[in-house]
Amino acid sequence: MPTLPLSPIRTGGKPARNSDHRLEVDGLSFEVLRSDRRKTVQITVERTGELFIVAPSKVADQELVQFVEEKLLWVHTKLADKARLQQRAPVKEFVDGEGFLYLGKSYRLRLIDRQLVDLHLKNGRFCLRRSSVYRGREVFVSWYARRAQQWFERQVAEQANLMGVDVKEVRVQDLGFRWGSFGVDGRVFFHWKAILLPPRIAQYIVVHELAHAHHRDHSAAFWIKVDQHLPDWRSRKAWLAENGIQVEGL
Ligand SMILES: [Zn+2]
Repeated sequence: MPTLPLSPIRTGGKPARNSDHRLEVDGLSFEVLRSDRRKTVQITVERTGELFIVAPSKVADQELVQFVEEKLLWVHTKLADKARLQQRAPVKEFVDGEGFLYLGKSYRLRLIDRQLVDLHLKNGRFCLRRSSVYRGREVFVSWYARRAQQWFERQVAEQANLMGVDVKEVRVQDLGFRWGSFGVDGRVFFHWKAILLPPRIAQYIVVHELAHAHHRDHSAAFWIKVDQHLPDWRSRKAWLAENGIQVEGL
């Protein structure tokens, strides 16, 4: 099932191969993965901060060390980026005045003593019943999921028509580290968190997933399809890569 990663901040695919050994360079520890199929040396910085070197089988360790030394500035920059991005994910406390995102805007929380529903958005405030605070996350997630269902159904209906895609069902759920996915059976999935993103970014996720109806992979043909329907997809994709992680904190 083709998917769009929730925070596509990794710089390369994690090689699915057993590790040969580790190399220490400038106080950093790299796991070395060698493969007969590799033609070039590549350094990968995982979202967890783990470091990998993928290399052709014949390249000697000394050459790898030299390669890494030339790329040290890049590696340190990547590591710093990832540390910064991970710090930014806020943890919610469900207290008065706290900001909560919805379609790219932040709305302040107000705790209400008496209110019929757990949560509603009224006059630019998220009003949460005080007696529901202890299950605040669950209340917010279900509110977001309902809104996401409506919003994505509408967007998909519009875009599917334009893109010539037959969608059987739109489903909103927790997709872990993915924003969306397109199933072979014509069902399209979105993470409920996608409703926290600005509309133009959420629209990019819709177009991205629907383009998978035409091309399962992320080939050049796939991106041409995306480009046909969303010429400025690059800036939206970049925004998502840089800022998407912020919505992971709830
Ligand atoms: Zn994709």
